[in-house]
Amino acid sequence: MKLAFYGATGEVTGSMHMISSEADNVLLDCGLFQGRRADVAKKNRDVPFDSADITNIVLSHAHIDHSGRIPLLSRNGFAGRVVTTRATKDACEYMLRDAAHIQESDADYLNYKAVRAALHRQAGETGKGGHHGANHVRKLLKLDRHRLNNEKVRELAQKFSVPLVDPLYSDADAVAALSAFEGVPYRTPITIGRDMTVTFYEAGHILGSAVSIITCRENGSVKRVCYTGDLGRFGKVIIKDPNLDFAPEDREIDLLVIESTYGSREHEPVHDLSGRVKQVLNDAFDRGGSVLIPAFAYGRTQEILYSIHELYDSGEVRKVPVYVDSPLAINLTKVFGEHPEAYNGEAQETFLKRGENPFIFRNVHFTPSVEESMEIMRDDRPHIVISASGMCEFGRILHHLRYKIHNPANTILIVGYMAEHTLGRRILEQGMAYQETGGKGEPPVMRILGKEYPLMARVERIEGFSAHADKHELLRFVKESNLVVRRAAVVHGEKEQAACFADTLRKEGINAVVPVHGQKIAV
Ligand SMILES: [Zn+2]
Repeated sequence: MKLAFYGATGEVTGSMHMISSEADNVLLDCGLFQGRRADVAKKNRDVPFDSADITNIVLSHAHIDHSGRIPLLSRNGFAGRVVTTRATKDACEYMLRDAAHIQESDADYLNYKAVRAALHRQAGETGKGGHHGANHVRKLLKLDRHRLNNEKVRELAQKFSVPLVDPLYSDADAVAALSAFEGVPYRTPITIGRDMTVTFYEAGHILGSAVSIITCRENGSVKRVCYTGDLGRFGKVIIKDPNLDFAPEDREIDLLVIESTYGSREHEPVHDLSGRVKQVLNDAFDRGGSVLIPAFAYGRTQEILYSIHELYDSGEVRKVPVYVDSPLAINLTKVFGEHPEAYNGEAQETFLKRGENPFIFRNVHFTPSVEESMEIMRDDRPHIVISASGMCEFGRILHHLRYKIHNPANTILIVGYMAEHTLGRRILEQGMAYQETGGKGEPPVMRILGKEYPLMARVERIEGFSAHADKHELLRFVKESNLVVRRAAVVHGEKEQAACFADTLRKEGINAVVPVHGQKIAV
């Protein structure tokens, strides 16, 4: 048996590894590379094997950097099953179709830009350029301010021989892929190939996330791989901790494939989070301002809601309206509500035993329609808005920022990781730097949807919400679990983080490597 590493090597996105036995090729995750469009477009299209050769896919959790290329494989001829937990299957119903929608809109936008450039070139050549020309082109290619006239774009592309970009996959591909999903319970061996099984255990990262133990019997010997997927923190709200107690038949591990997002970093303690949230909310309300929280639709949104629910119940903050303004988050909050079996003891005790849904309380409003979303933007009484995308790259959060970013009474609360080159990262870094000067001089200027806005709102960060284990928690999983690990491959971390965690493992006497893209390791 061998393992090949095709993604999340020296980086944190595009998770995809292949286990090959004599009879089968099984993928561990099949994620999308994320980052700047120019950097990732080709990486996502180039699948380094024939999709029809894959027997099955084992999916660790629903995040797009782990699941987002499954529709592409389906489109390319993958005909097997996607084996995952029940909650992950339910979440993917929404996540993958949302991802397809993003791919489709992305392709539409690129095609619009290409045709627009062709029209401008032509206007320049015929002398009919200038302002009038640009306006004319915009009217021709757009239905209104925000909607493209895709039919017209395609028609003109053909006329001017502009090559069109296809989306990576379509909604139809996502729907086809979803029919291959099989949701299975934790701690139950499932056949995924000839003499090959997978058993899932809680990973504590996100609802439905799993550590996978793959067992393969080949030529009279048994080999076992443990794939952590993304590992969560210990003691968090809502979901259970990463599992430390594996069944006797799953404990002897020939190769541990472990994530290392925070392989050399330490997080704030989990128990301080509620106090920090309380302080940030009260400070903003005392200034007469509102709080805007950019958050991923799956996980972070529900954790924040849970935390606010607790603070509201205990009367520690003023009960202002809370708006969850992200259609995807609204659907995924339903998935959370449907899987209380994944909750930890505290969540069971605090809410479920009282018959309450932890995410639905008096002051919460879910705003699926655009009209309702516009209403909130005009509301100048203190309130809380939770909206996506988490890194402020697209989605309704951008409209809320336009309305709130210039007002020093408001707070932008950052609760998630902000990748380089994102608006979220610029708000975080430049906002914090400006605050450190005591708000002297010119405020930083942020470009949002084509216009510039001064960043005068307060920027606060609470790091402890991270869904990823820090270096101590990663090591705790290895040392305190009853797994006996012979060798380890460290993935899903930027180079420095992965190298550092591999060092940590070596100090514990575990032979650890950091595989490079395409590397194969015999097990
Ligand atoms: Zn994840």
